[in-house]
Amino acid sequence: MKKLFAVLLSIVLVFTMGTTALAAQITISNAEVGETYDVYKMLDFTAVAGTTDKGYYTVEAAWEDFFAAEPASDYFTVETNADGKRVVSMDAELDDAAKAELAKEAVAYAKANGITAVTQKATSADVVFDGLTPGYYAVDTSLGTICALVNADSTFTTVEKNAKPDITKEVQEDSEINYTDEGWGKVNDADIGDTVNYKSEITVGFGVTKYVMHDTMDAGLTFIPGSVVVEGATKDVDYTVTTNCADGCTFEIAFEDEFIASVGRGNTFEVTYSATLNENAQVEYEDGRGYQGNKNTVYLEYLNDTVIKTDDHETVTYTWKLDVFKYTDGDNKTPLAGAEFSLLYDGEAISLVELKGDDITVPTYRVAVEGDEAEDIDTVIETDNTGKFIILGLDADVYTLTEIKAPDGYNRANDLEVTIGHDLDDENYSATYTINGADPAQIEVENKTGGLFPETGGIGTTIFYVVGGLLMLAAVVVLVSKKRMASFA
Ligand SMILES: [Zn+2]
Repeated sequence: MKKLFAVLLSIVLVFTMGTTALAAQITISNAEVGETYDVYKMLDFTAVAGTTDKGYYTVEAAWEDFFAAEPASDYFTVETNADGKRVVSMDAELDDAAKAELAKEAVAYAKANGITAVTQKATSADVVFDGLTPGYYAVDTSLGTICALVNADSTFTTVEKNAKPDITKEVQEDSEINYTDEGWGKVNDADIGDTVNYKSEITVGFGVTKYVMHDTMDAGLTFIPGSVVVEGATKDVDYTVTTNCADGCTFEIAFEDEFIASVGRGNTFEVTYSATLNENAQVEYEDGRGYQGNKNTVYLEYLNDTVIKTDDHETVTYTWKLDVFKYTDGDNKTPLAGAEFSLLYDGEAISLVELKGDDITVPTYRVAVEGDEAEDIDTVIETDNTGKFIILGLDADVYTLTEIKAPDGYNRANDLEVTIGHDLDDENYSATYTINGADPAQIEVENKTGGLFPETGGIGTTIFYVVGGLLMLAAVVVLVSKKRMASFA
């Protein structure tokens, strides 16, 4: 014998055995104000006298054809019982996909057959349909595609998914690691030359089509076209990637309507992709040229009668710099030329390229990238008469600044451990500099004279200090090295 109609019809379906006098109610929470919600009664429920949880369903006359045809006939049978009532029984349980299809077909059938709905326009987040009789209802919204089958109940509530199309954007800190690791946010920092990973989440909305994701990268970022991965989709089947876009975007991803439909209203899918922080990356300067970081901006476009664009969503990738000043003569701070340095990371000297230009007043280097000419790359920095040099394009990390050759007549300085820290959140970004484990902003400048160094009997002092100043932070440290005794030379 076919079992009585006692299985939930959909995710939001509630099966209720009310009393025959029950006045049922459906509440739709999280409704969109201004949108119209419709409910259609498909089946009537009659409780057995004296019970609230036993009864039977009968089909509403206008729905006879619906239950006689696919897909409803795959799951239900309508028969005339001994009392002449058109009783509905369930032949097979519906999985989620079948429930969704059935609900969608029900609303289409109702509209095609002029079946009258109970209609309300949302004036708040809760739309309440009062005074319904127990039964099964299809619920539809003016936004297009929701159609949940619900059993009217005095307390039934369904939560409307917020399903306007939208897109998010995040960038991954410490981007060497793979996508499954933590570290996603609105800002990150990286070395020049590093790969930076991005992630966007797209929400599928109500019955709209022609989804296109537009992504624009600053000049300091080089998009890697082969890096695009769309969750659950196949390239050139479900989506296409276009670069050199007519509207000035760095790249666009156009999604096929069939793919979007398969994701389904209210659901999301992820798009991941990568870029290289290149030699044009913005780095902070002390001379007031400002600091914008390296932006990546995305928005989603879709068709809903007219083309609609979401808000822009942006991430910023920062990279930091190191300022060094080599000097002698204590308080006189006389710049010292001819000292040679390397900056080490993990024991390896970092490859650098010296920058040239009219606006460059002290030797300025950036981290080398793939594509730099071999003859331009060096790991050695030599001070000039300014005593200063600048290294651009460093990630937050621990480095060693080592003087590999002192100027003639001076002792080589001790190695300095330099930690570039970062303070990154959605509102703030800055780097902090720590030299040999202490915050340089609080270090007293040690300015020893030669007379204090009996172990060498030095007759002078060579000092260099590292200045880390970024945004509001300024940092100074002095390292003292010892001039050789004349007799040592
Ligand atoms: Zn575009």
